[in-house]
Amino acid sequence: MKDGTSPGPKKSLGQNFLVSKAVIDRIIGAVTEGDRRPVFEIGPGRGAVTIPLAKSGARIAAFEVDGLLAARLRESLQKYPEVEIVDADIRDVDFDLEGKKRGWEEYAVVGNIPYMLTSSILIMLPEARKCARAVIMIQKEVGERILASPGRRDCGILSVFMQAYFRVERVARVKAGSFRPRPKIDSVVLRFVPEAIEGAPEDRRRFLGFLKAGFSQRRKKLSNLLTGPQEIDKKDFTRELGTVTGVDLGCRAEELSLDGWFTLFRGYLELMERR
Ligand code: SAM
Repeated sequence: MKDGTSPGPKKSLGQNFLVSKAVIDRIIGAVTEGDRRPVFEIGPGRGAVTIPLAKSGARIAAFEVDGLLAARLRESLQKYPEVEIVDADIRDVDFDLEGKKRGWEEYAVVGNIPYMLTSSILIMLPEARKCARAVIMIQKEVGERILASPGRRDCGILSVFMQAYFRVERVARVKAGSFRPRPKIDSVVLRFVPEAIEGAPEDRRRFLGFLKAGFSQRRKKLSNLLTGPQEIDKKDFTRELGTVTGVDLGCRAEELSLDGWFTLFRGYLELMERR
C-alpha cells in the first residue's frame, strides 16, 4: 500500500512490535525512574510502550512516521490529553526545540527504534542538551559495541561518541521472541544518562566529524586518515599533531582511549586555529 499506510507490519520501517510485558515494564521503569519528567517517544507504533506509559500518567509526545499507525494510536489514546501522537519522521525532529514548544524544562527519550536508523537516532542525543536520560532498544551486536571501552578492539565511532557525553548502561537483554513479527536478531536496551566527562569536546558535531575521519578505514593508521587544511601536506600536519598532543598517530582508531581522542581533537582544533 502507498503513503506509509500498510495494513500489516512493514519491514522497510523496522516494524517489529514489542509483545513482552516484562520487557515493556523494564523499559518504562528505566525511562521514568519514578519521576514525572515528560517523555519523547520515537516510533510508538501500536503503542506497546506508549499505552502503559500514558496509563501511568506520563506526559508524552510520540513521533511516528507511519500515518495509519499514528492515527489509530491517537484515537485509542483520546482520553489522555497529556499524550500527543505526532506524524513525523524522527530525523526531522529537534528534541530541544520540541521541548521548548511544550514548555518542558527537561525530558526523557524512549524508543524501540527501527534498527536501520540506529546511528542517525543515537547521534541526535548528544545534541539534545535538555535530555535527562534516553532508553533505546538496539540490535544486540551494535549495543555491545557501543558499550565497549574506547581503546578495545570492538569499539567504534558510537562507543567513543556516546561515552564521551553519557554514562551508558545495559538495562535488559531482549530475545527475538519478544517481538511480532519475530526478527532474526536479539536486542539490548541501553540507557544513556548525560554525564560531564572531563575534557569532552564542547563542539559535539565537529568532534563527530573528526571521529568519522579517524574510523573511516579501520585498518589504516590515524596518521593516514586525519587531514588538516588543504594547503598543508598531510604528513606535515599529522607529524605536528603528534608533537603537539603527544599522541602516537601510528595507532588505529580503535586503539585510542577516550582521553586520547579528547587530547587529539583539542590539538587538532588548536592547529586549525593557528592557520
Ligand atoms: N514502539 C513500538 C513497539 O515497541 O512495539 C514500535 C516499534 S517498531 C520497532 C519501530 C517503529 O518506528 C514503527 O512504528 C515504525 O513505523 C516507526 N518508524 C520507522 N521509521 C521511523 C521514522 N523515520 N520516524 C519515526 N518513526 C519511525
